[in-house]
Amino acid sequence: MSFFIFFWLVSSIYGEETSSSIISSLTNISWSEGDDGDIFKIEITGNFEFSYAYLQSPYRFFIDVSPVESNMMENEFPVGIDGIERIRIARQDEKKIRIVFDLTGPIRYKDIVKDSSGITVVFPPRLKKISIDVSGNDKGFLNIVTGSRKVLVPEVFSLINPDRIVIDIPNTTIMSDKYDVQASPPITEVKISQFSIYPPSVRVVISSNTPLPWNLEEISAPGVASISFPISSLSPLSLSKPVIIIDPGHGGKDPGAIGPSGLKEKDVTLDVALYMKGLLESKGYQVILTRTTDNEVSPNGNSAREELEARVVLVNSNNKAVLVSVHCNSANSPIPGGIEVFYWRDEDKPFAEAVCNSLSDATGRYNRGVKKGEFFIIKNVNVPAILVEALFISNPTEEKFLMDPLFRRKIAGGIVSGIIAFLERKQ
Ligand SMILES: [Zn+2]
Repeated sequence: MSFFIFFWLVSSIYGEETSSSIISSLTNISWSEGDDGDIFKIEITGNFEFSYAYLQSPYRFFIDVSPVESNMMENEFPVGIDGIERIRIARQDEKKIRIVFDLTGPIRYKDIVKDSSGITVVFPPRLKKISIDVSGNDKGFLNIVTGSRKVLVPEVFSLINPDRIVIDIPNTTIMSDKYDVQASPPITEVKISQFSIYPPSVRVVISSNTPLPWNLEEISAPGVASISFPISSLSPLSLSKPVIIIDPGHGGKDPGAIGPSGLKEKDVTLDVALYMKGLLESKGYQVILTRTTDNEVSPNGNSAREELEARVVLVNSNNKAVLVSVHCNSANSPIPGGIEVFYWRDEDKPFAEAVCNSLSDATGRYNRGVKKGEFFIIKNVNVPAILVEALFISNPTEEKFLMDPLFRRKIAGGIVSGIIAFLERKQ
């Protein structure tokens, strides 16, 4: 449903037709709601030239038209729709008049075109309000309200370093330099900007202390959008969420086991651990790696035992954590293959089982089951700990799998699914 308001400004005031061939007349200004914004029609008869520009302090957009009939009085008309306060018409000189749109902020136009009936200006829907609602029990919302008459389809994506969520709202202009948004944990800051002018789009950036999983809610009402994120499950419960420490086995001068064609265990374990980190962080977990490059955790030159002790010290400095040490298996024969997961304390057996089953499912490799194993790191840390042996690097077929970056991602995904299944079952 559209509405129209007409201001009859000039209508054939002049009896003399002689001048109309040279001088044009401003006859009417009207506006209506279109699907893509507010359409202002400035009806002008005859031939004319026009130019337009923005001015600041205060914000206004103006169109100069010339030559135009000189009977125009200075006039002012309230508009009052989403930041377009009024239109003023002022004579600049004998030939030129200026049509001024008084704006509440840097409102961009979408289109301005001249045709045989005059000039049409379209202003895209304005961003009216952004608010954060964390009053719910488990979900918080970032609510966006625009003047759009269509269902809003923003593009949402996450960025890291620092952690933030980006929401791009197409065909929208900001209407103010400053939106009053009260950031509330886990959201630390909300930034709003005119990301693009032609075509107009608004960007909202939400910063948070930790990686924030988000969901774009499905809303059928026009002009609004809502992004939800976990809160009480993230604030009280996230405090109860353990830090996940991933220990990529070996590193630096210790290559670990070496495959028949030369693949080094230390390279596979680091790559898998880095993939795991990304996956877990996207699920809202905090992740620590004992190493993030091809190096030792202890200072160079230390013994293998000192190296493992350094890793244990690192793990035990986190009082609420779980440890997953990632390795590849190796045998003297090329035949053995598959997946094994070790635990030391009996209470960690279900943790090992969850990861072993999930990893075997994800990779399709033989499930050798879980075993109690006296490995230094899982025996000496004081948090729940397992040691994953992902495939046999000594098996030529499995070595090829371990060389493949896509397969390494599969391994990471399998281990991560098992960790999450175990942690969520436990809660
Ligand atoms: Zn190893």
